[in-house]
Amino acid sequence: MTERDMANVDERVLPARGFIAAEMQRGQRLRVTDLEGGQVGDLVAFAGHTLAEKLWISNTIRLNKTIYLGAGHVLYSELSRPLLSILDTNCARHTLLAGSCNAEIDKVRYGVDDHRGCVENFVDALRPWGARREDIPMSFNIFMNSPVQVDGSFSIERPVSKAGDFIELRAEVDLIVALSNCPQDLNPCNAGAPKTLGWQLSGTPS
Ligand SMILES: [Zn+2]
Repeated sequence: MTERDMANVDERVLPARGFIAAEMQRGQRLRVTDLEGGQVGDLVAFAGHTLAEKLWISNTIRLNKTIYLGAGHVLYSELSRPLLSILDTNCARHTLLAGSCNAEIDKVRYGVDDHRGCVENFVDALRPWGARREDIPMSFNIFMNSPVQVDGSFSIERPVSKAGDFIELRAEVDLIVALSNCPQDLNPCNAGAPKTLGWQLSGTPS
């Protein structure tokens, strides 16, 4: 990071179950860090400064030809425009298939009422841009471990991420990004208990 970049860093600790959203300019970087180990962050993004053109997971799977993203892979919009590219990560498992937890699915799968999830976090995080629930796209699941077996079976397992593991992304267009520090405590997604995540936005726009 150059001296000029150092002066332009927004660094915070997201509390367990917390959320954040921000506008990024093309060329700026976002680093998400698993500060304690075993914690998932769901990420969504939108091209430009409105919620019209969303992150689109099926395009991202088809264009990267994988459901597990790592360095060199790209998150695409519904118009197949590159939104964010992954510059680096030291965690072997991030996934595209798990979607976001929310009160409705947790009622169906676990029988609990009003169990706040990542979708509710995204609506609140993106409220300054006018978000409604239907604006929230399927998310990219940072540090999430949802393996798919050769017979097609899918499961949610404990993350393999350790304390200090990170992913660094670069904005390929001006965009809005939101991160939900996953509140899920009813399956192994967050290794049993929601924990903190680190958020660092940096870099001089190109
Ligand atoms: Zn979640």
